[in-house]
Amino acid sequence: MVLTLEDRISDRLRAPDYHDWRDKVVATNGCAVPIRLEGAWQVQEATSGRVLAHHGGEIMVPCGNRRATVCPSCSDRYAADAFHLMQAGLAGGTKGVPESVAEKPRGFATLTAPSFGPVHNRPTTRAGKPRPCTGCGERHHPDDPRIGGAVDPDAYDYTGSVLWQAHAGALWHRFVTTLKRLLAQAGGLNQREFKDAARLSYAKVAEYQRRGMVHFHAVIRVDGPGGPGDPTPAWVTTDLLDHCITTAARAVKVGTHRPDGTPLELRWGAQVDFRPIRPTQAHDVEDDDGAISEHRLAAYVAKYATKTTGKTDGADRPIRSQLCIDHAPVSDHHRRMIQTAWDLGDLAEYDDLNLKKWAHMLGFRGHFLTKSKHYSTTFGAIRGDRREYRAAETFDRLGIDPESVLVVNDWRYTGTGYASDAERELAGAIAERVRDSRRRKYEQERQAA
Ligand SMILES: [Zn+2]
Ligand SMILES: [Zn+2]
Repeated sequence: MVLTLEDRISDRLRAPDYHDWRDKVVATNGCAVPIRLEGAWQVQEATSGRVLAHHGGEIMVPCGNRRATVCPSCSDRYAADAFHLMQAGLAGGTKGVPESVAEKPRGFATLTAPSFGPVHNRPTTRAGKPRPCTGCGERHHPDDPRIGGAVDPDAYDYTGSVLWQAHAGALWHRFVTTLKRLLAQAGGLNQREFKDAARLSYAKVAEYQRRGMVHFHAVIRVDGPGGPGDPTPAWVTTDLLDHCITTAARAVKVGTHRPDGTPLELRWGAQVDFRPIRPTQAHDVEDDDGAISEHRLAAYVAKYATKTTGKTDGADRPIRSQLCIDHAPVSDHHRRMIQTAWDLGDLAEYDDLNLKKWAHMLGFRGHFLTKSKHYSTTFGAIRGDRREYRAAETFDRLGIDPESVLVVNDWRYTGTGYASDAERELAGAIAERVRDSRRRKYEQERQAA
């Protein structure tokens, strides 16, 4: 007799350890590929070593992957954390960031990659009507897989595009340094004096466009020298910030070379966008005045942070061999970029770029969400809050004074993911319920705010 998936699911539901297993899945919020560990967790009395509490067996830890295609549950959590992080730096009043940040000179800047050759696109008129592709003249359907791909792959500068992407982090770094210098100059200060007068804070996310290049979106704010709680010097205005950001983005460059030795100068694309940020109002209207509201912005950022490299989800994991490249379910254009990164990775002169490791990211080696030290709270702090809260609950339940004990963790890795397709199905259903209840909670919070 052959068991169907439904049979296997109902078998799993009836198994004696089902409730135990379900609790473990719920504890990971229904992670799609949990890490399984075996071992024990012990609470010992610090002075005598006497065991006060012991929990042994198999546990599951969430995978923590930020990509929705790998794990909807963990990416959801990442988006929520990203949202809270940006929101804290924007609005203040939470997580140790004072409310006065809302009055600081600040804006939302977008820095783009330059062109490496014409790509198929689908421009629209102001009214939203599609116009012909600037690459080939056709009117592309929104689902046309050619959109974002090179019009002439043999003429497209794949080498330049991958090298640009691999240096995008360095280019950002230079941009920040130059921006600080320009702001200092505007106040008649040198760099050291500027440090004593003001502090630049930012949080940025990288977003892939369909042509496979990243854009950076950043919230940039100028605080006083002591950080968010300190008044910003009066001469730093939002207009000055706008002017300096645009000037810095146009000025900076990073020099490298092509495999044949030709020098290659890497710069930002010509399109630099800056929008002032205004505090969220009770009735959040469309951003018709060119400004963007805090709430809308933080939501954008959370969305960018969990997006993958494009419409397809094939290249979510590092590439291990040529076979991976040949069979990755990605567009031909992305495949060429992956191949280019992989091949450049063979050349000793690009060793420090580690291109083979980042080939699946189309050469981009940076983090998706980065922030300067004083922007707001950190992911670590958000997760720490949650962990501490849980540990405190446990101690409370056991009647233990946390100061007097030692927590001993001893876990061994036993595997990743679920043991069977039935378990995967059940975990998927649990994840959906967890997400639904989280969404309801979020809606309630929003309505209450
Ligand atoms: Zn996960
Ligand atoms: Zn076209």
